[in-house]
Amino acid sequence: MKIYVNRIPAEGLHEEAAYDPKVLDVERFDLRLEEPIAVSSVITKAENAILVQAQIRGRLRFSCARCLEPFALPLETAATLSYQVRPSDVVDITEDIRQEIILAYPMIPVCRPACKGLCPACGQNLNAGSCVHDATTAE
Ligand SMILES: [Zn+2]
Ligand SMILES: [Zn+2]
Repeated sequence: MKIYVNRIPAEGLHEEAAYDPKVLDVERFDLRLEEPIAVSSVITKAENAILVQAQIRGRLRFSCARCLEPFALPLETAATLSYQVRPSDVVDITEDIRQEIILAYPMIPVCRPACKGLCPACGQNLNAGSCVHDATTAE
């Protein structure tokens, strides 16, 4: 998204943009975004700077790192970006938005914090039920 500094009115500007995750190149080997990323920004202008307050929304699709079940979770983050500008500048915020999206990703995507994962011996999904190897229920 490009911001034309000389088109920002004194009261500020509200912009909506949608990014294709493929074009934005934000997918990670273990995470995909399954719909366009919606970015809603409020842009305000000061003397020699602009401030962009962005709300970023998307939907993450991944396989749980512990139990391998496919999973979807909302991605929601907010960012405040500021730029030093001259009145004639055009500011492209796309790269900064891209960085914010990547920063919002979970380090290790799991379906839930308490996911029990798979039994290392038989592969049973321990969220669905225990197996004979489950140390917590075995005698
Ligand atoms: Zn899981
Ligand atoms: Zn087992």
